[in-house]
Amino acid sequence: MLSTLIKENILNNLSEKEIGDDHISTGLETPMRKDAFNISDQEKKEQIAVLFGEIMNVMGLDLTDDSLKGTPNRVAKMYIDEIFSGLNPENKPKIALFDNKYRYNQMLVEKNITFYSNCEHHFVPIIGKAHLAYISSGKVIGLSKLNRIVEYYAKRPQVQERLTNQIANELKEILNTEDIAVIIDAKHLCVSSRGVKDDTSATVTTYYGGAFNTPDKIRELQSYLTVY
Ligand SMILES: [Zn+2]
Repeated sequence: MLSTLIKENILNNLSEKEIGDDHISTGLETPMRKDAFNISDQEKKEQIAVLFGEIMNVMGLDLTDDSLKGTPNRVAKMYIDEIFSGLNPENKPKIALFDNKYRYNQMLVEKNITFYSNCEHHFVPIIGKAHLAYISSGKVIGLSKLNRIVEYYAKRPQVQERLTNQIANELKEILNTEDIAVIIDAKHLCVSSRGVKDDTSATVTTYYGGAFNTPDKIRELQSYLTVY
């Protein structure tokens, strides 16, 4: 449960109107407490169900209603088992690499990977496409594993800048190369469904590492993203 200090911070923030909607991203690592995994997923679900029920109750919803009474449990299960399952390192995909027997030495692009994430400032969805590219340093990765890596980091409360860099970092580590590119093009429901309510804007973030960080390679990569 929350410490008195954190409660005070939350209440202070509530009175600071100037915080507004600005999205501030912090470091590369998702900010988590050291004791984040001292309790089991089951215990987390039980606590979240009680707390979410409390939120609904404060809003005046009748939790004895047939349609509403299961909601706190459903939300808790969805948070831990689905949309925020990427917070738990145990859910990190196991990646197997293969030797690059084909001697393929050009860029490999896996484009239009659909992902669903959630904005950590408003807890509403971010829906987007990720495009990943790498040049093999001797090993190749199963294509679906690229989707799995995107999915794992997307299933956290996120900001798009961090999501981009976390995916890039993971690819660099697994593939043992700096030659990695990540492009993310996403819609943030906190911008489209509320706040400024702009339904047409989208956010693009990029990471171009190693050999990808040249105008020629960037142009080449972008040409593949527009061709079907
Ligand atoms: Zn937001």
